Amino acid sequence: MGGPVDLHTHTTASDGTLPPRALVDAAVRQGVRVLAVTDHDSTEGLGEAFDAARAHPLLTIVPGLEINCDVPGSEIHVLGYFPSADGWRAAWFQEFLREQRAERVARVHRIAERLAELGMPIDPDEVFAIVKEGSAGRPHVAQVMVKRGYVKTVREAFDRYLRADGPANVPRRRLTPVDAVRVIRRAGGIPVLAHPGLAGRDEMIPELVEAGLRGIEVYYAEHSPEQVASYLAQCREHDLVATGGSDHHGPQSGRTNPIGSPPVPMKVWEHLRDREAPTDGGPAASPAP
Ligand SMILES: [Zn+2]
Ligand SMILES: [Zn+2]
Repeated sequence: MGGPVDLHTHTTASDGTLPPRALVDAAVRQGVRVLAVTDHDSTEGLGEAFDAARAHPLLTIVPGLEINCDVPGSEIHVLGYFPSADGWRAAWFQEFLREQRAERVARVHRIAERLAELGMPIDPDEVFAIVKEGSAGRPHVAQVMVKRGYVKTVREAFDRYLRADGPANVPRRRLTPVDAVRVIRRAGGIPVLAHPGLAGRDEMIPELVEAGLRGIEVYYAEHSPEQVASYLAQCREHDLVATGGSDHHGPQSGRTNPIGSPPVPMKVWEHLRDREAPTDGGPAASPAP
């Protein structure tokens, strides 16, 4: 059994391997009571997740998403939650997400060019072919590299070539983490900094707080006890909610954190929910991008 709350999961609407319905069923089996579905730059999985959850009256689905941003040498992810606001359905917000996904496709082409220069040609169409739904990303590129025999595992593809500062990685363009926080706020959502321990760019936290950040994903499988302690202290300093989630990507994803782990208590969710902003914007609201 996992904990009762999981605020970070992926489906086939982005780079997860489980369709939303299967994710919901798996979460219920793990004893999860509050499940946030947070696909990369997409809310396309939410309809099916809500639908599937109707069979499970004890389960609350939190509509969410994870926006990927590039900063020099690293990648910063910002989670957004919409417990009651439906700003995520707004036409301008969906158009923003479509543009982000289009940029993902362009990026796969640029990564393929880089791999060709490194003597490992891949066909971008081969990458898109293995994406059943949602948007292509580096995990799919990595699978093609395994298939072609350039590397043995997805993990090796990331470690040697595709990591943030790896020789085959090409950053995505345009969006800064501050932009991502503002966009989520403008849509009435709750922005939370995802797994900051992976990015190692803690110096950005104050400006994200300034932009309207409401929480930090403190409880995360790959955070060390020291990192957890440090992020808890930063949450206290900036009046942020310390959240957590599995970042589950489904089986066969090469990323195996089980749903509901690390365990996150119900009160974390209750504190976060209270931070929802009105859609008409507070002081941190900004004009449409
Ligand atoms: Zn992430
Ligand atoms: Zn994620």
